[in-house]
Amino acid sequence: MAVTRTFSIIKPDATRRNLTGGVTKMLEDAGLRVVASKRIQMTKEQAEGFYAVHAERPFFNDLVSFMISGPVVVQVLEGEDAVKRNRDVMGATNPENADEGTIRKTYAESIEANSVHGSDSEENAAIEIAYFFKPEEIVG
Ligand code: UDP
Repeated sequence: MAVTRTFSIIKPDATRRNLTGGVTKMLEDAGLRVVASKRIQMTKEQAEGFYAVHAERPFFNDLVSFMISGPVVVQVLEGEDAVKRNRDVMGATNPENADEGTIRKTYAESIEANSVHGSDSEENAAIEIAYFFKPEEIVG
C-alpha cells in the first residue's frame, strides 16, 4: 500500500476542550504521522471557501459560524492509504452512528461539533492541503 497524505482539522469543539493532544494521539495510534501542523483562527472567508462544496446545504451557515468560533489545528497526515486510514479512525459524521474506538465516538459533541475534519479523497486532500499549507511547511 502506498504512503500518501491527507488533510485534517481538529475543530473548535476539540481545541476548546483541550483535546488537541488526545485527538492527535488517536491519529498517531492509527498509523498516521503528523508532517505539518499549525493552530489558526480561521476567517469567515476562509471557512466559506473551504466548505464551498456545502454552500447550498441547510447547515452551511451554522457550520461556518462553528468553524470560526475558536481556534482550529490544521494538519497534514502521512501514512499508508492515509485518506481511508484517517476516515476510519474519525468515525461517522454523526457521532451517534460512529463506531467504538473512533475519534468522533470518543470526543464529538454533535453532528456539527464532531471534533475532526478529514479529506474524503486523495484529490480533495491535495486541494485542502494546498488551501492551508505552503510546500515548505510540510516536512515528511
Ligand atoms: N454537518 C452538519 N450537519 C449535517 C451534516 C454535516 O453540521 O447534517 C457538518 C459536520 O461538521 C461535518 C461537516 O458539516 O463534519 C461536513 O459534512 P460532511 O458530510 O462532508 O461530513 P464529514 O466528511 O466531515 O464526515
